[in-house]
Amino acid sequence: MKVCVVGGGAAGCMAAITLARGGAETCLLEKNEKIGKKIYITGKGRCNLTNDCDIEDLFGHIVHGEKFLRAALYSFTPQDTMEFFENAGLALVSERGNRVFPLSQKSSDVNRTLEKELKRAGVRLSLNCTVQDISAAENGFTVTADKAEARFDRVIVATGGISYPSTGSTGDGYTIAKKFGHKIVTPRQALVPIHVKQPISALRGIALKNVELTAYNESGKRIDGRFGELMFTDRGLSGPIALTLSSYINRTENVRLALDLKPALDSAKLEARILRDFEERKNQDIKNVTRALLPDRLNAYVLKCADIPEFKKVNSVTKEERARLVRILKALVFDVKELAPFTEAVVTSGGVDIKELKPSCESKLCKGLYFVGETADIDALTGGFNLQLAFATGVAAARDILKCEEIGL
Ligand SMILES: Cc1cc2nc3c(=O)[nH]c(=O)nc-3n(C[C@H](O)[C@H](O)[C@H](O)COP(=O)(O)OP(=O)(O)OC[C@H]3O[C@@H](n4cnc5c(N)ncnc54)[C@H](O)[C@@H]3O)c2cc1C
Repeated sequence: MKVCVVGGGAAGCMAAITLARGGAETCLLEKNEKIGKKIYITGKGRCNLTNDCDIEDLFGHIVHGEKFLRAALYSFTPQDTMEFFENAGLALVSERGNRVFPLSQKSSDVNRTLEKELKRAGVRLSLNCTVQDISAAENGFTVTADKAEARFDRVIVATGGISYPSTGSTGDGYTIAKKFGHKIVTPRQALVPIHVKQPISALRGIALKNVELTAYNESGKRIDGRFGELMFTDRGLSGPIALTLSSYINRTENVRLALDLKPALDSAKLEARILRDFEERKNQDIKNVTRALLPDRLNAYVLKCADIPEFKKVNSVTKEERARLVRILKALVFDVKELAPFTEAVVTSGGVDIKELKPSCESKLCKGLYFVGETADIDALTGGFNLQLAFATGVAAARDILKCEEIGL
């Protein structure tokens, strides 16, 4: 059985190693001068390669494709990923939130381990080799790369999405999939900062903890909400909860965000607290009183939104103004303009429509052709989950090919 794997990222490397270990004659074609350029930049250079969580917990961190991925993830769990790397000699460490990293804290060690295992398993690796075309041939495929052609029995496309294109993921798999009649779910940025319509550059750099950000669609229906850390950028919101929300709002137009700056207090309790502060400091400017609740620049912004002059004396603040202040502290509104570009997106949401793929990632439209990893319309939250999806789908495709050969299909 001759198999071609296109793309030497997480999914492609894992697929190729599994195939070659199982006895298939395996070629891995990678357009860059080395494998795993994206792996290299993962986890801020430390590579959060999986999450040592319960499998059911893992499903809760998948944004798109949970049902489709169940079979692949049950047969190659996060613990299997850890075992794979540990058996290959890479020591691992589990950190906060079960995030697994190499003990060395170097993503380059993950790439080195994959390189070593590709070699040991006997994979024929061609670097600087860009696949231009794949076409159906008798009982297989013809793969064209850099003007040379070769015939294969099976092909696994593992070319990634279109985020961080400088790493080599430029959407080539979509072109191949379309050629075979596949539908491409419009690729969208995920795990990415959110740009808002309101001018908020004055808030740039302010970091908040213990706040709650909720997204609503244009009919006011809640899409998702997250509690945790947030950061203001020049043009919008970033930090963990904004990145997470971006994955849930990227397929919806006209999204409105409401930032609860004091989620631990309901409106009545917050109003009581403000009244108490006002009572104690009646003759002061309001901004000096609300300063206790918010960082300085955000304090000024909130008062402006509440239409209360910063230098107004507390004893002349009206009941309506106080109610407006409470309302804004509980729901500071931002309208989503757009998501930051793909060059800043940790993952691509969208891609080859999983309705047209079997759980093994084999195309339902073309026998013997597989689409794995981020090329398919699957994505998850941060925490090592996206690499786990890439590894598991790579293994699922490879095992399916090996099984087909074993039973003579
Ligand atoms: C900054 C950043 C940090 C991240 N951190 C984490 C993290 O810590 N943990 C985590 O789980 N996930 C993380 N991710 C997400 C994760 O890296 C990806 O989801 C995962 O690498 C996808 O793997 P893949 O194999 O599907 O695709 P890719 O890694 O994109 O690999 C695709 C490969 O195919 C090659 N290729 C493309 N077209 C062709 C062609 N025509 N011919 C030959 N080769 C081709 C590319 O050069 C590339 O090497 C991060 C992503 C980014 C951008």
